[in-house]
Amino acid sequence: MTAQLIDGNALAKTIRTEVAGRTAALKARGVNPALSIILVGEDPASQVYTKHKVNDSTQTGLEATLETYPADMTEADLLARIRALNDDPKVHGILVQLPLPKHMDSQKVIETISPTKDVDGFHVASAGALMTGAPGFWPCTPHGCMKMLEAIGYDLRGKHAVVIGRSNIVGKPMAMMLLAKSATVTICHSATQDLGAITRQADVVVAAVGKLNLLTADMVKPGAVVIDVGMNRKADGKLAGDVDFDGVKEVAGWITPVPGGVGPMTRAMLLVNTLEAAERAAK
Ligand code: NAD
Repeated sequence: MTAQLIDGNALAKTIRTEVAGRTAALKARGVNPALSIILVGEDPASQVYTKHKVNDSTQTGLEATLETYPADMTEADLLARIRALNDDPKVHGILVQLPLPKHMDSQKVIETISPTKDVDGFHVASAGALMTGAPGFWPCTPHGCMKMLEAIGYDLRGKHAVVIGRSNIVGKPMAMMLLAKSATVTICHSATQDLGAITRQADVVVAAVGKLNLLTADMVKPGAVVIDVGMNRKADGKLAGDVDFDGVKEVAGWITPVPGGVGPMTRAMLLVNTLEAAERAAK
């Protein structure tokens, strides 16, 4: 069996086109959807990510501002800047790029962002909204994975979904989203015994660990949907996920590639959240 590919690049492109259309409609009503991104320090990966976020935004018609601060910025100054952005009606989304310098308390910083502008979906209020089904912002990566399942018309009701990884930004919210669609959900993590015995029962597997070849063909039920969130560097420097793609694609029914899978969807969902923040503010 050769799995069908879920093309994250193509789906993200469709989503960006939709965002551009809705952004133009909002602008016609005099509202300019705007995202403020804060980068503290000079982490090279964060510099690349924030540049992408600005470019993605401007290409879809959203306004995006990148504010960069030195690594020795005080936490008090950062919190004051966030509060000013919270109070600015022209700013709809606020994103503080993580990781922050060690002298800052990341959770405290995130909790300072107004939940109405928390487009990363990392605020405890956003997590609570996801848990209870209240309106709020969903973290971009798991939200992008859900869009992929939606795009292939997959009905999760009664299916067994296994999420590998329990981080607050991927694994846990992913599990909540799958549960909300009436899947039976199992969360696996570093202390899980015999991972393969569990994943072999899964109709859907989401791998979000950060370990090359964590999920191999013998761990996958024939026909399962396999979503690979992982991002790892191979010895040759190339990007790869957590899934042994070449092996698993012979067993799975659907599979996402790395690169070109969850990554572009994560980027697209930030645009969706920013636009929705502006649409909600304009109501
Ligand atoms: P994390 O380090 O916070 O969490 C990793 C999780 O994996 C932990 O819950 C841990 O218990 C679990 N784990 C570790 N070893 C395991 C094992 N042998 N078996 C089962 N579980 C194990 O990581 P994160 O921030 O959730 O990110 C996970 C991966 O997803 C990373 O590779 C990261 O780069 C990637 N990621 C990709 C995107 C994207 O847009 N594509 C976005 C976010 C994260």
